[in-house]
Amino acid sequence: MADNIFTKIIDKEIPASIVYEDDEFLAFLDIMPFEKGHTLVIPKEGVETIMDMGEEHYLRMQKVVLKIAKHYRKTLGCSVNIWSNNGGAAEQLVPHVHFHIIPRFNCDKKYDKLEDRESYLGNEMELYRKRLKL
Ligand code: AMP
Repeated sequence: MADNIFTKIIDKEIPASIVYEDDEFLAFLDIMPFEKGHTLVIPKEGVETIMDMGEEHYLRMQKVVLKIAKHYRKTLGCSVNIWSNNGGAAEQLVPHVHFHIIPRFNCDKKYDKLEDRESYLGNEMELYRKRLKL
């Protein structure tokens, strides 16, 4: 699979606010979060969509997603949205499998509009990384 922004993060060619890492998976803060703490979980293996993953690989990834979601509920006291866009018509922008884990604190239905995104100010992203790191 061709290089993309996530393969560069895996190879540590560009920085990311990493909150979880093991041999197979990596999780880091989304730079344009719907809520602060918005996290992306990715496999280190270069696969484009979940439909390209083997079942066991996919299930191991879901264990990581679950672990992080539980940790965020405990740490932030939040609800959580989990989703994954797979394929162009599903609005997948980065062609490398990823699951969004989004802390939610209210029911204002901020979902998929660019203007709904939040911004980290100053060193806030690093503070969130430290707070959420597993
Ligand atoms: P998707 O539309 O599901 O492909 O979402 C891709 C996500 O990757 C978006 O939410 C982007 O904000 C996020 N993103 C893109 N580049 C980076 C980056 N360098 N570090 C963290 N998140 C990123």
